Amino acid sequence: MTKRGLHIRNLEYMITTSCDLACPGCDRFIDHGHAFVEKFEDIVSNMEQWFKRLDPDHVTIIGGEPLLHPRIYDILTEARRIFDHAVIEVYTNAFLLPKRPKIFNVLKKIGNAKVSCSLHNKNPKYRDIVERNLHQAFYSKGKWFETSPNTHTCDTVVLEVTDPTQGGWYDYRKEVDGVLKPWNDNDPTSSYKNCGVNIYPIIYKNKLYKCPPISMVRTHLTKNFMLEDKDWQPYLKYEGLDPDVDEKELEKFVKNIYEPHSICAMCPANPVLKPQEEAVVKNVKI
Ligand code: SF4
Repeated sequence: MTKRGLHIRNLEYMITTSCDLACPGCDRFIDHGHAFVEKFEDIVSNMEQWFKRLDPDHVTIIGGEPLLHPRIYDILTEARRIFDHAVIEVYTNAFLLPKRPKIFNVLKKIGNAKVSCSLHNKNPKYRDIVERNLHQAFYSKGKWFETSPNTHTCDTVVLEVTDPTQGGWYDYRKEVDGVLKPWNDNDPTSSYKNCGVNIYPIIYKNKLYKCPPISMVRTHLTKNFMLEDKDWQPYLKYEGLDPDVDEKELEKFVKNIYEPHSICAMCPANPVLKPQEEAVVKNVKI
């Protein structure tokens, strides 16, 4: 019998930091133009290594925009093979669905799958495009049943649409003189309690991080020549775990998913929830 790793609820897998949108205040700094696409072979090898250490109920393939990856069908298929009993989810803004016409077939084939579509524009012209794309890619291709508000199911595929332009969005960093800074509210317990992504550990470049925002701190600061910025130093000390991390460290990590960490001080202790500002849409003319 295959040895499974430590049980966790969710595991995100960031296969690209490139995106066709730029959403102001993206939790992973994606709106600041970080172009990275992980090689398919590396993704598979990394998943195989992590499967021996972690046993997630839910694996989310995320970006950036994951549909940008030229091997997205194969990635979803391999995710199913490796994480054999997890829900396999792909998180998309839906603009690129016409370029991935087999996505529904792939998801039906792998089964126990989910598409999460997030809307990032209020502009009705962009919303029409997304609606049309969802119709062509999914709703027109099967019998869908509404299973909860904004969620439909067809066979073993779930499609959920969320809309941060209606509210619930907040700034994980503050902007000071045009530069992104940590909040440093010195109340990690409140920051964690009020956090919207606190139970989503993520793998980025084969390292495991507590949450999406911390995974991209070094990448963002490196690109912007900010590695010496004193406000960011406490968070730069945080390092993601390698798949060969010893068992005790990994157990400690898993326990801490559901608890605050000192790095939570970088996030706001009392976030102001607001509607997401209009995303910049890079490759669509309206
Ligand atoms: S550092 Fe803590 S509060 Fe900030 S996003 Fe991660 S889990 Fe949430």
